[in-house]
Amino acid sequence: MLAPGSVIGILGGGQLGRMIALAAAELGLKTHVLCPDPDSPAFQVSTQHICAAYDDFAALDRFAAGVDVVTYEFENVPLATAEFLAARVPLRPGAKALAITQDRLAEKTFVRDLGIETAPFAAVDDLPGLEAAVAEIGLPAVLKTRRFGYDGKGQVTIRPGDDLTAAWHALGRQSAILEGFVSFSREVSVVAARRADGAFSAFDVTENVHREHILHTSTVPAALTVEAARQARSIALAIGSALDYEGVFAVELFVTGCASSERVIVNEIAPRVHNSGHWTQDGAVTSQFEQHVRAIAGWPLGEVARLGRAEMTNLIGADVHEWHALLAEPGARLHLYGKEEARAGRKMGHVVRVRRDVTACANLPENDGC
Ligand code: AMP
Repeated sequence: MLAPGSVIGILGGGQLGRMIALAAAELGLKTHVLCPDPDSPAFQVSTQHICAAYDDFAALDRFAAGVDVVTYEFENVPLATAEFLAARVPLRPGAKALAITQDRLAEKTFVRDLGIETAPFAAVDDLPGLEAAVAEIGLPAVLKTRRFGYDGKGQVTIRPGDDLTAAWHALGRQSAILEGFVSFSREVSVVAARRADGAFSAFDVTENVHREHILHTSTVPAALTVEAARQARSIALAIGSALDYEGVFAVELFVTGCASSERVIVNEIAPRVHNSGHWTQDGAVTSQFEQHVRAIAGWPLGEVARLGRAEMTNLIGADVHEWHALLAEPGARLHLYGKEEARAGRKMGHVVRVRRDVTACANLPENDGC
């Protein structure tokens, strides 16, 4: 267990690292951020930082010498980096979570082996492999690169009649996975925390709406049946246990079926704090960032109860120019990431609106503390 005053090392200096550093400071902890980008938003709020590449092992050695635990804000930390650090200082979550979630094929196989439903999928390594996968899974389907895909990048939807050669080239002829197209009614996520001793806690299920493949709004509680919400939570519990997970993670799910047959299907696991959990900063007793810090410090997990009906809206690119009006809006809570250039598609900040007149925890009566 870390003592107050300990130093948390954070790999990655984006907005997630920044918000972890802010939460750590609230609890009397120091932070040390390593990131190759000199303009990292997390550098502005951390106790110390090193601007270095993730494969600069001399820098990693200095970084490890000055921290009590290392965590990360993104899943594409090179495995060699994770292993190098884990040999010197506790890495939480561990390298296993990275190895599985960095590769869509490994991730889907891991989830399926736990007996949890995913879209049907098949590995694709070349054009004949794509033809075989299409014959097996059928169309429409989504072809995704196995690695480095995010916000809809690295994926192509293939519809009946589409040219498979063109799809294969569009994806850059990389190792891929073909997934059956899930005709979902909604997309939801569970943000949960687990400690090394198995203590587990999940925030209420969040409903997510994307625009141009980027998360636009997260609303909580999600409009889904009590049974589907319970299923989502138990899926997160099973995934966390199987990964021996330490820290906060998110499971993104598709909702299918309706009424009594409604169920959830796993799309993706994020081994980190997650954009769909930002509402917790103003809409829950404990934020996901504080929860992550507590979990990796080995401290008691915080209360996850919701304070009302919450909605988080991302400020993407020029949306951030609304900052003044948002500050003037009663009840709106503005969070800006300190990024200078409001480029199209860039996450610049978010706003959380909480309506406290709605009974909290309406859809998860079994949740701790509700
Ligand atoms: P991903 O990068 O896997 O999270 O996918 C980005 C988005 O593409 C998801 O949030 C869905 O809206 C859509 N998508 C991904 N996979 C599928 C699928 N198998 N069926 C239908 N839609 C999908």
